[in-house]
Amino acid sequence: MALTKPSSPSSSDAARTLAKGFRSLRFDEPLESEFRAEHRARMRGWNRVAIWLSACTVLGYAVLDHFVLSTEHARVTHIVRFAMHVPAVVIMLICTSKRFYTRWYDLGISLVAPLFGIGIVLMAAFSPPAEVPLVGGRLLLVAFFFYFMIGLRFREALRANLIVFAALTVASLATAMPGTTAGYLLFTLFVANLIGIVGSYALEHANRTAFLEHRQLTEVATHDGLTTLLNRAAFEDQIRRVWQQAQRDRQTVSVIMIDIDYFKAYNDRYGHIAGDDCLRRVSSALRDAARRRPLDFVARYGGEELVAVLYGADKAYGESISRGLLTAVRELRIPHADSQTQPYVTVSVGVVSVDAYRMATHDAAVGLADQALYAAKKQGRDRFVVTEHVPAKVDPAATTVLPLRGEAFREASGS
Ligand code: GH3
Ligand code: MG
Ligand code: MG
Repeated sequence: MALTKPSSPSSSDAARTLAKGFRSLRFDEPLESEFRAEHRARMRGWNRVAIWLSACTVLGYAVLDHFVLSTEHARVTHIVRFAMHVPAVVIMLICTSKRFYTRWYDLGISLVAPLFGIGIVLMAAFSPPAEVPLVGGRLLLVAFFFYFMIGLRFREALRANLIVFAALTVASLATAMPGTTAGYLLFTLFVANLIGIVGSYALEHANRTAFLEHRQLTEVATHDGLTTLLNRAAFEDQIRRVWQQAQRDRQTVSVIMIDIDYFKAYNDRYGHIAGDDCLRRVSSALRDAARRRPLDFVARYGGEELVAVLYGADKAYGESISRGLLTAVRELRIPHADSQTQPYVTVSVGVVSVDAYRMATHDAAVGLADQALYAAKKQGRDRFVVTEHVPAKVDPAATTVLPLRGEAFREASGS
């Protein structure tokens, strides 16, 4: 399982991008890459259908040409069909298989598509004059395939079509194609492109809008509105996944519970709105201080209690981050005249570092961190307490999870 976390609050990038607009059909990174990856993944089934449809079309024209077109000019047609079109379709079918799709489809289709179109131009260019419209008409199908069917984004589809249009222009000037037929064909292809450009631009714009709106909805559902940290539900979801991953990789996870000291007194003295602002600033400082590595995350556990989860973090690392959290909040110097610890806002911190494979679920670890936090409060606040998890039976090769009962916990504190 690939471990991904709900997009971070910075991904209100989605909201910003929606407000700003994206007429050029391009987002700032990392949104652009994420959109492309999501779009590509969503389109695999359709792309496979589209490539099969191309295969059927190639086959259909092979049969039709056999009966309709004159045979004396068939050589180029055959060469193009069997040396370009059939291999192109086969390659692209392979690219739509699960194994190759993610890595190769985009690259493959953006190279193969224009070549496919050039092949038809060649067929038309070497057809007898009366048959040029019959063969050239297929360029319209190609244009619509590029714009709407084979998963090219607007720019790639436009580029592929421009290449084909340029190839037709060159062919009409450089070969014996009758001038009027060539002009007619070019005009028709031009109009098809105009339709394709408008339609495919609108389609991609709508796709991108839907992507951003979905992003925004996910953010609202997974983040706390006040602090912009992950909310409780997203926390449970994320820590469950982190835990499973850590169990598989036999990693240590540190769980850190953080609670603002004398926050009720803060609200009582400075008012609820100032309290909200304080909570927001403390959350932001904690996020910056705790989230150093990609899989680490910070969430609002409830009220003024926050939680940080550090993946692959042993006791020493958990301890150093806890010390950093205390310092980060102290350095905000948010005045708190009614605090018994300092004349400014402080937090208490409880931390536990656990080998994930020794516990079936994360709940016990969260419970231990909470106990450590309680100990920090009891010892006078504005400090951290580390609880070390010492299993009763230490069996490094154990794959089953040892029960908690009968285990000992060693505490250490710091400030
Ligand atoms: P302790 O040092 O033991 O943690 O004392 P405390 O006063 O911080 O703890 P207590 O649990 O008694 O009070 C927590 C307060 O946090 C009460 C509640 O009004 C406040 N609180 C919880 N969520 C919010 C919030 O979103 N905004 C504001 N302004 N206050 C909040
Ligand atoms: Mg508190
Ligand atoms: Mg509390």
